[in-house]
Amino acid sequence: MSILINFKICDNAQECNGIAVCPTGALSWDKDKKSIKIDNEKCISCGKCEKSCMVNAIYVAKNEAEYKKIEEEIKKDSRKVSDLFVDRYGAQPIHPAFLIKDDKFELEVLGSKRLVVAELFDDDSIKCLLKSIPMKSLFANYSIKYRKVVAGKELIKKYKIKKLPALVFFKNRKLLGKIEGFYDSKKKEKLVKKITLIVEK
Ligand code: SF4
Repeated sequence: MSILINFKICDNAQECNGIAVCPTGALSWDKDKKSIKIDNEKCISCGKCEKSCMVNAIYVAKNEAEYKKIEEEIKKDSRKVSDLFVDRYGAQPIHPAFLIKDDKFELEVLGSKRLVVAELFDDDSIKCLLKSIPMKSLFANYSIKYRKVVAGKELIKKYKIKKLPALVFFKNRKLLGKIEGFYDSKKKEKLVKKITLIVEK
């Protein structure tokens, strides 16, 4: 039978539960297209992916008629991925105004006279796509410029980043410090302490 994914509400991340539970590799992560890949030839209709999806974005159609019906329902679905972020992760997606590609790093980050906090992230990872702890609450006491940067290999190598996402702090082109790895809201206090040490040293 055939698998359908409602990409209007699917966050299309490599951490997809459906990929993790699929016993045959019928669902996989396409690195080049940066998307979940469906291979219906490999599907044995076990239904594990459908059950594993927390937002019910995956369907296993039993026959062609059901496939078409689901396809129509998906077409009519007016929701979008960001509508479900808060329920799913307790987090908001990052506002596009703060997003830059690494080719703007020189201008937007190094070239700034202000204290700049750049969050280097991997756009294949949902943990990196979300602003899990609002920056406003982390930097309430400081005047900063914040940018979220898709981390290319050169940046990662240059600043010796071992884990993404990573916060890198710059002033007048000088790297003041970096904080690597994902922090959820439970680790906010720890993160604030690390930020304070860098910003106030
Ligand atoms: S129904 Fe089973 S085999 Fe088919 S994609 Fe889902 S988990 Fe994989």
